Amino acid sequence: MAEAEPVLDAHAALQPIEDILSYHAHIYYDVARTRGVAEWLRERIAEAFPVQIGRWHDKCVGPHTASMYQVAFEVPVFARFVPWLMLNRRGLDVLVHPNTLQPRADHLVHALWLGQRLAIKGEVLSERIEASQEDAVIVNTRPDLGL
Ligand code: ZN
Repeated sequence: MAEAEPVLDAHAALQPIEDILSYHAHIYYDVARTRGVAEWLRERIAEAFPVQIGRWHDKCVGPHTASMYQVAFEVPVFARFVPWLMLNRRGLDVLVHPNTLQPRADHLVHALWLGQRLAIKGEVLSERIEASQEDAVIVNTRPDLGL
């Protein structure tokens, strides 16, 4: 079950898009049913995009409530990678969120979903982190099809 979005403050200051340091796409799968699709998608992403592909997490980690792997990418990659995911996710659910040093809001408020919206454990996420805590995206310069 997806949780309700926090009530938004209409009087809060506008947040500039320059606050977005990078993005993550979390590709969710079911170990028994759709891991093969996730493997296929991972290989296609690695072939085609300058992104950083994270480890397989068959067991839930962090705020996530389903198996997934993470794809980290820099701001300019969004314009081609996210539309490509729209067309090629093969039924997998995908969370795309910005990284603005506000992990809880980035996952719960600033995110977009392709497919179903899954539950996110917001309570394990920090409200705010320092810039030094935000991992730099280390772009694949060659395809990384390994695990
Ligand atoms: Zn993330």
